[in-house]
Amino acid sequence: CDNVFCTSCIQQWTNNNSSCPFRCPQFEEKRCPPMINALLSKLNIKCKFIGNGCTDVHLYDSIEKHEKNCQYQQLKCQGCSDLVLKKDLTKHELVCAEVKVECIKCKYIYKQHDKHELVECLSIRLDIAERNAQSSRGKIEKLEKMVENLETILHEHISICPPLNQILQNIPLSSLEKNWYIIYDHPYSWITTTEELRQLYIKCIDKRILVGAINGSSSTVLALAAIGPSSILQLETHVNGSMHYSDVYWYLASNKAFGFSPSPIVNPYNADTASTDGDKRLCWYLSRGVGGYRAGTAIDLLNDNNWRKVIMTEK
Ligand SMILES: [Zn+2]
Ligand SMILES: [Zn+2]
Ligand SMILES: [Zn+2]
Ligand SMILES: [Zn+2]
Ligand SMILES: [Zn+2]
Repeated sequence: CDNVFCTSCIQQWTNNNSSCPFRCPQFEEKRCPPMINALLSKLNIKCKFIGNGCTDVHLYDSIEKHEKNCQYQQLKCQGCSDLVLKKDLTKHELVCAEVKVECIKCKYIYKQHDKHELVECLSIRLDIAERNAQSSRGKIEKLEKMVENLETILHEHISICPPLNQILQNIPLSSLEKNWYIIYDHPYSWITTTEELRQLYIKCIDKRILVGAINGSSSTVLALAAIGPSSILQLETHVNGSMHYSDVYWYLASNKAFGFSPSPIVNPYNADTASTDGDKRLCWYLSRGVGGYRAGTAIDLLNDNNWRKVIMTEK
């Protein structure tokens, strides 16, 4: 049928019924005929808040918009929940005793007519600060525990699988003691012989060795060290040669010198005197009637009794 309905009324009807209000069996929604719209748009309508004092009259097309913003509609005060005309609400809420405000400093919420004294504010802020400090302390304690655990894990890890592919510096012996032990420990003044190293090999066949230097007779830190297979002790490198395992270059030239370097160019005949990456070079004279030669940048250690030559192997 072509009966005309208001949108909201017909929507409400069709929500509960499937037929038309005029009992046509099949409800079919059609656009309202343009003529009806044309007639409607000529209507002047009084605002529905006329009872609250609005005297506005609007055309059909704009009445809805006006009523939405009409200053004479009643809105709830956020404090006392009273209904107040929209035009008066701001003024009312400014003075309404029930409206609550929040102190921006201490976040305390109070009725705007109540007093929020400075002492109260300060005491609340002090409480908050103390709570924060306490939770921070708790967090710090947790983090400290975590760091401690990580350190333990790290030390165990270093001990089980020290980074092979690089020259190590400042490694505490304690981080190695679980899986490694010292098989050679002499001051740099000690005359190391080729034979000594060859015989050490028997103590560590099929194991890895760590060759390093410690600064001081009571020090427990390897200032410089490198790890490689024990077969290093059996090397016979050329006068100018070296063998590399990962990124460490090893040389053992009988009756000349033994050591490692981060780069392949070494000259063990006259000891490794290179200064490039000097802190990562270790060199011991072999069977030359003197000690020495270098532990990193400490060179010419021929008669030195502070620096120690150390070899360790796995347990
Ligand atoms: Zn109908
Ligand atoms: Zn209606
Ligand atoms: Zn109005
Ligand atoms: Zn109020
Ligand atoms: Zn406050």
